[in-house]
Amino acid sequence: MKTVLVTGVSRGLGLAIVDRLLKDSEPYHVIGLSRSLSPEYQALMDGADGRAEFIPFDIGVLDAIPQLVADIVTKHGPLWGLVNNAGMGMDGVLATMHRTDIEKVLAVNLTAPLILTKYASRAMLSARQGRIINISSIIASTGFSGLAAYAASKAGLEGMTRSLSRELGKRNITVNCVAPGYMETEMTAGIDVHKMASIRRRATLGLAEPADGAAAVAYLMSAEAGRVTGTIMTVDGGSTA
Ligand code: NAP
Repeated sequence: MKTVLVTGVSRGLGLAIVDRLLKDSEPYHVIGLSRSLSPEYQALMDGADGRAEFIPFDIGVLDAIPQLVADIVTKHGPLWGLVNNAGMGMDGVLATMHRTDIEKVLAVNLTAPLILTKYASRAMLSARQGRIINISSIIASTGFSGLAAYAASKAGLEGMTRSLSRELGKRNITVNCVAPGYMETEMTAGIDVHKMASIRRRATLGLAEPADGAAAVAYLMSAEAGRVTGTIMTVDGGSTA
């Protein structure tokens, strides 16, 4: 069975990704990771017939990542897939943002995925197969007032994706991004009503939902996507078309 590690599974897009992967015709074994175990993820595990498990882990604790991956590979063998989904927003004007907050966003959204990918890809390299999927955001390319650090982290993920697709492609490992537009999750719950109205207006097909992003991840994870690499797949209801 193909083993997939998904970060940030307690809610939102990560939860939807695990739900989608467990329903796939390919019988994935899914390892979900986040700081807290939510009742929703517990319910997914309860219905998964042993194909889903949970590891409580804070990816901001960068020094613990090598051991995390080593333990997973010892138990399950090389990962087939890694989905770097966990992320945090940090809304605020850069001029007044604390440096520690800037560093936290970059650590969780960019450095942690880089380090997770570094260790996960070692085992993929020897297996000569694998799928790495990074969750970016349309904000990496459009920008958004108040999200400079967040946008920088997501643009960094996209640069990492393009370079790594070249580095790992020779060994049959694909590296892609899914870049969602606005989705209604806890991350976006506090957004101002006026900004919300203009976001809705721009999405000609209606706002994307976590299930839409999860479907894109499932495609990029599949065997059929074996010659798709280095891409940024936008899922935004047409907002940036
Ligand atoms: P969310 O509802 O806030 O969920 C974030 C998930 O990440 C949670 O499961 C959270 O679990 C986990 N997480 C956060 N910090 C973590 C850490 N340090 N260690 C481990 N897990 C951590 O956000 P979302 O909207 O689903 O976002 C998922 C991804 O999509 C993010 O990368 C985000 O940037 C991206 N995205 C979202 C939108 C949107 O409009 N919502 C748009 C574009 C891109 P715990 O709190 O339990 O750790």
